[in-house]
Amino acid sequence: MEGGQPGPGASSPQSDSAEVLLHGVFALLDPAPKMSYALSLTCGRELRMQRVGSAPAGPSAALKLADCIGCSAFAGREPQPEPAAYFSVFCYPFRKGWWDASPSRQRLARTFRVCVSQEPEDNLRLAETWAGKIRELAAPRVPRQEGVTWGLLPRPCHVLVLLNPQSGTGHALQLFHSLVQPMLAEADVTFTLFVTERPNHARELVRAGDLSQWDAVAVLAGDGLLYEVVNGLMERQDWQAAIKKPLCTLPGGSGNALAASINHYAGNTRAFKEELLTNCTYFLCKGLYAPMDLVSLSTASGKRLYSFLSFGWGFISDVDIASEKYRQLGNARFTVGTIQQLAGLKVYKGRLSYLPVEMSSSAPGSPSEQNSHHVPCSNGRPLHILPQPALGVPRPPHEGSWLEDPLLVPFDQPVPKHWTIVPEEEFISIFAIYQSHLGADFTMAPTAKLHDGSMHLFYLKAGVSRLGLLKLFLAMEKGTHLDLNCPYLHYVPVRAFRLEPFASTGLMTVDGELLACEPVQGQVHDQLCRIISGS
Ligand code: ADP
Ligand code: MG
Repeated sequence: MEGGQPGPGASSPQSDSAEVLLHGVFALLDPAPKMSYALSLTCGRELRMQRVGSAPAGPSAALKLADCIGCSAFAGREPQPEPAAYFSVFCYPFRKGWWDASPSRQRLARTFRVCVSQEPEDNLRLAETWAGKIRELAAPRVPRQEGVTWGLLPRPCHVLVLLNPQSGTGHALQLFHSLVQPMLAEADVTFTLFVTERPNHARELVRAGDLSQWDAVAVLAGDGLLYEVVNGLMERQDWQAAIKKPLCTLPGGSGNALAASINHYAGNTRAFKEELLTNCTYFLCKGLYAPMDLVSLSTASGKRLYSFLSFGWGFISDVDIASEKYRQLGNARFTVGTIQQLAGLKVYKGRLSYLPVEMSSSAPGSPSEQNSHHVPCSNGRPLHILPQPALGVPRPPHEGSWLEDPLLVPFDQPVPKHWTIVPEEEFISIFAIYQSHLGADFTMAPTAKLHDGSMHLFYLKAGVSRLGLLKLFLAMEKGTHLDLNCPYLHYVPVRAFRLEPFASTGLMTVDGELLACEPVQGQVHDQLCRIISGS
């Protein structure tokens, strides 16, 4: 007969990790029917399983509840010989496949049968007790970090999923149904699916829609659709509140840099395609979110953009845009694009200035010293760039509702004196990245974090040979490009920058999306938004 009862010391605060919170004997229904297991739920967040009824006692195994995304209890379906109830545990531990050297998260589900009483309600109550306790122990621990507020999605939670059916190799919708949706169901996350029909469709939706019904907004696409969402949120009149809606990236595009970065920050080994999508869906199911820096970009013609990933000009941007036509290749499109662009290497002329991170804490213009004499002031307030909104962007109701850029001065003024002006004016590429990865196998800024208050600025001066450039790009796969000590490559973490091209040639990109070439400046805004991530 199966049975279960609460273990001793269930609520003791000093309980050690081996202490048993619940103990019971239940039949395992799935995947090996009818074997009985003694289950112990421990303070150490493990579900220990020992086979019983066989002599000698069968081997014991343990499910780590840190890997668990959900647990549900349910009554047996009629007709039944016994009034049993059940609970199912859904875990995604890392496992090594025979085909793959590095471990990846793989589904492991166990269903147990509870039949301690002839009363169906008693069995269901006990199954629910187990499921509830397992869910409680599976909840991620919210990291404590000074100055950084992490959060947890409520349970149950409802998520808006925005999906670009054209992104990547065009399989995003299929991936949603085959991979994402089942995991969300296991985690008891309900969703509204919105499939975009055209560029800017998602942007328009989040700009005007009522977001209060969703606890988070997930994007199943490439970085481009998330870029739309971030900008749509920042175009709202209530942007201060809207931009705090937790966002989630579910990689389905050809450029999934943020997903690859979040996977890296969580300490996971590199993952691609479905494995990366599984890892990111797992993060969504766990519900932990962290603050993320955003960069505001302003152009001389008055465009105002918000960026979570990168700003670039020259070679890297050329590769990104020119390889668009190879999107059917998925991630490999960037390798093909790199080789193609190497053949026709171009030099870009312009002036680059920046505010190094190390200068910004004590420098004028930092939030604590905004009114210093180095920063132009008007009526006792620093002069901020308040560009005219670009066509199609709703005008803010009053001046104060813009996000201000205290580190920047208008384009018709020289950059503040404590900024660095790069003496060279001929470049192969200028690239500011604020995440670790530019692609799943492209580790450009290995030390970057979601909220490090930095743009990781790289500039590659003209004169580098094609072979030297190729070596740098190959080293970027593992993030060892700076170890090559290439004299043409410079790296500096910055808080703000200004780029003034001498001619409007070449492509600029913001988060992989095209921007016409013109003077641009930008600054980091610490922890402006929130993103689902690992701990
Ligand atoms: P990828 O990583 O493959 O480039 P993205 O999700 O980044 O995929 O999207 C690429 C571009 O497609 C973005 O500029 C986005 O605005 C646009 N887009 C979004 N929805 C659609 C759609 N339904 N049809 C065509 N383009 C779209
Ligand atoms: Mg960063």
